[in-house]
Amino acid sequence: MPDVLATEIEFLKGVGPQRGELLRKELGIGTFGDLLLHYPFRYVDRTRFNAVKDVVDEENAVQLRGTLKQVRMVGEKQARRLTAKLVDATGSIELVWFRGLRWLQPILKEGGEYVVYGKPTLYRDHFNIAHPEIEAAATWDEGAATPLQPVYSTTEKASAKGLNSRGIGKLVRALLPQVHGALPETLSKAIVQQLGGMGREEAVMEAHFPQDQQRLDRALKRLKFEELFFIQLQLLKQKQLLEQDVKGNVFTHVGEHFNTFYSNHLPFELTGAQKRVVKEIRKDMGSGKQMNRLLQGDVGSGKTLVALLSMLIALDNGFQAAMLAPTEILAQQHFKSISRFLEGLPVVVRLLTGSTKAAERKSLLKALHVGEVHILVGTHALLEDRVVFQNLGLVVIDEQHRFGVAQRAKMQAKAAVPPHVLVMTATPIPRTLAMTLYGDLDVSVIDELPPGRKPIRTVHRTDSSRNAVFDFLASEIDKGRQVYVVYPLVEESEKSDLKDVMDGFESLSRRFPLPRYAVGIVHGRMAPDVKDYEMARFAKGETNVLVATTVIEVGVDVPNASVMVVENAERFGLSQLHQLRGRVGRGAEHSYCILMTGGKLGNDGRTRISTMVRTQDGFEISEVDLRLRGPGDIMGTQQSGLPQLHLADLVQDADLLQQARSMARLTLDADPELKDPDNAPIGAALREQMKEKAVWGRIG
Ligand code: ADP
Ligand code: MG
Repeated sequence: MPDVLATEIEFLKGVGPQRGELLRKELGIGTFGDLLLHYPFRYVDRTRFNAVKDVVDEENAVQLRGTLKQVRMVGEKQARRLTAKLVDATGSIELVWFRGLRWLQPILKEGGEYVVYGKPTLYRDHFNIAHPEIEAAATWDEGAATPLQPVYSTTEKASAKGLNSRGIGKLVRALLPQVHGALPETLSKAIVQQLGGMGREEAVMEAHFPQDQQRLDRALKRLKFEELFFIQLQLLKQKQLLEQDVKGNVFTHVGEHFNTFYSNHLPFELTGAQKRVVKEIRKDMGSGKQMNRLLQGDVGSGKTLVALLSMLIALDNGFQAAMLAPTEILAQQHFKSISRFLEGLPVVVRLLTGSTKAAERKSLLKALHVGEVHILVGTHALLEDRVVFQNLGLVVIDEQHRFGVAQRAKMQAKAAVPPHVLVMTATPIPRTLAMTLYGDLDVSVIDELPPGRKPIRTVHRTDSSRNAVFDFLASEIDKGRQVYVVYPLVEESEKSDLKDVMDGFESLSRRFPLPRYAVGIVHGRMAPDVKDYEMARFAKGETNVLVATTVIEVGVDVPNASVMVVENAERFGLSQLHQLRGRVGRGAEHSYCILMTGGKLGNDGRTRISTMVRTQDGFEISEVDLRLRGPGDIMGTQQSGLPQLHLADLVQDADLLQQARSMARLTLDADPELKDPDNAPIGAALREQMKEKAVWGRIG
């Protein structure tokens, strides 16, 4: 049977070459199948309206019906905008557009009746709606016969050629009869039953043109579940295949290095969580399979030590170990703390970064090749081809979110038998994201801080209380404590940021003058050796205040520092704020984090600040972050690793994801090859999906 879903979109009645090209370019719809997957992003109950007087908050979108008055083009250049008033029996509200003006203006007729949908914003004591969806009431009423009207996303260009939401709806309507029978069931009968009994084809139809709310809910649940289920199934299947194919080095014994260190050199008792995780890692590395483990633990939870113990196991089995850090500062810090831990033990630890001098690098690489270096710590420099190990057995990667899958692969290629991999991250990843991104990894969590950590008191202050804040800093410094004052990132291009830091440095220097006090400064545009010198002065306690940009974000450890002041805190992301706060609370009796902002804050800014004030739990913070920014932004460069979702939403459908994951696991555990006739639809769909994937894998 030729695959009707693969038919080019041009061949759909009502499309043709011109619109076909628009659909392709503007909406990424190239085939019948793509159009089917272009689900409505919401449904309008066309029979219900809000009254203008009921617009009382910014939280809820409203559907209004009224007469359009005072359609005006106002402002110049950048500020140019189209405004209008919508008047109903209860009042009037301003509508405003900043884009698409040329296309909109001729459509909007003063005195005409319109239906408007959008989210209100409060501006200068009045609500307005920016970029509302708008439609003439007359055409609106034609659609009111089907109460739940699908709304499709589209673009201005496509709309201008009749491919507005309604136009797309028409195409879908034309398409549905043609794909009848081409949408085979992908789930087992049992699962379909659990999800409310709607078959695949029926659910797809219903999602585009719902008969009623209850059926729509069932359809969406089923389709979302299906999406999430197959992502999980693929991840679990990949893991299964990996474990079959890839043999790992077997680290059979825990020997000399580990035991000596553990009994004689460990400066403190491991926390329960650290012990549990070390055990998990030992078990992995002894299993004969290659370890791929993600270690999540909040700032200060003691991941470095876990990494070190794991590396010692590698050494005990005659292998070398490597530790990769995302920045030079962090690599140095790891190198120092590991060297300190290992003092007196016959273990050779070396550091390799971009700034390692040529002569030193040469001798280092030689020693590494013949196995005279046991542990190599470093930055991206470790990935270079000339870095050759004698027998690399374990790679520890710190701060996973800055390393991509490609880098992981590169490290693995440095040994005949792929080394075990331990990925550590101090940025807790929301559970739902971890499940979709790292479902092929095993996950360990250190959910306990070493004893004696004091909570960090976090407050929000505005510029108006700057003097009081400075007085507080003085009182802490007079107690012998040290203070960080952090400014937003200095980029090459952002001169104003640099000015902010310099101004801040000056006013702090004035408030805390020599010789009684000393203020230091570090930022990204300083030469590395100057930066290191300043950091070292602060670490030794020679400066009381360190004015800095986010270069100090990760890793820096000065236990005597008790206050973290963040300037323009609203400009930082939540995970950054959390990292910054983690720089204090490491030694002092009481520690503080002071978040400084201007008087006015946007919604997101306010949520970020209040979240920081409310909780210190990195996982809770990451969940809020996910809700604010969405999965793509959170993962930054990693977003390419995120599967494309058509319907499901990792934030809103977290529960369904959990369900899909358990179901995928249950299914595969019971029937690893999906050979059971009941699972035939699942097996067929999965094989189809993995086939596509494998092709991509080979290209990439
Ligand atoms: P992170 O997880 O942020 O990398 P680190 O490994 O840097 O945390 O540990 C933070 C601090 O806690 C370090 O000074 C480390 O020596 C110390 N530490 C680690 N484990 C323990 C423990 N079990 N008891 C006491 N202190 C510990
Ligand atoms: Mg660390």
